[in-house]
Amino acid sequence: ASTETLLAVRDLNAFYGGSHIIRNAAFSVGPGESVALLGRNGAGKTTLMKSLLDAGPRVEGEIMFDGADIAGVPTDERSRRGLMLVPEDRRIYPNISVGENIELGRHAARAGKALSLKDIFTLFPLIEPLRDRAGYQLSGGQQQLVAVARGLLGAPRLLLLDEPVEGLAPVVVQDMARHIERIRQTQDLALLIAEQNLSFARACTDRVVLIDTGRIVFDGTWEDFDADPGLKERYLAV
Ligand code: ATP
Repeated sequence: ASTETLLAVRDLNAFYGGSHIIRNAAFSVGPGESVALLGRNGAGKTTLMKSLLDAGPRVEGEIMFDGADIAGVPTDERSRRGLMLVPEDRRIYPNISVGENIELGRHAARAGKALSLKDIFTLFPLIEPLRDRAGYQLSGGQQQLVAVARGLLGAPRLLLLDEPVEGLAPVVVQDMARHIERIRQTQDLALLIAEQNLSFARACTDRVVLIDTGRIVFDGTWEDFDADPGLKERYLAV
């Protein structure tokens, strides 16, 4: 089964200073698979994602990506190997255009694999008319789409999305779910989506990894997740 694994994490621990945030995490993501990373505020979702890229916390443990142990591989090189994070704060630059914001994804692209802006507009028709608009002119939902588009430009094998619909209106959340569905159908990539919005996560993923106070407390199908309503009560603020 190991040849069928794109990302495999074992004994992962992550620290901010003296705070031990992620505790002995182990999970995997297969090629083309879409996995929800659920957990309440402060559970450790962002820290776990940043750990995968070595982009913040101090990290110990094993991270196998695409058949190689990537411990010690710098963050940018991880992205060029196909592991890309779209951060929670989106990082849309206000004074450059949408097209330029998306093109910033090119420096971290997989060699010879990057998409063109045209490809991006085909995937995200809503972005094309915004192409020359400045970052500061975008709504929150538009910013989030542009952030996802920038992540996709580099043709990642695994795209990490950190709370992509946080703070967005319900109709915009539905748009985002449709876009993610389109990406899944047309691009050969896997997704790991940190979320607190259960209906969105359910619409976009095949499987659930649930984290609480830095520990993975459930890993399974949505069916198994739903079969144990105590999980929601204990680990998600609903
Ligand atoms: P949210 O939904 O609020 O984004 P999360 O599940 O992503 O929550 P994290 O942001 O990973 O949670 O936070 C996990 C824990 O790590 C929290 O206790 C938080 O206070 C702590 N933490 C996060 N970032 C830092 C930091 N830079 N320095 C110290 N502690 C941090």
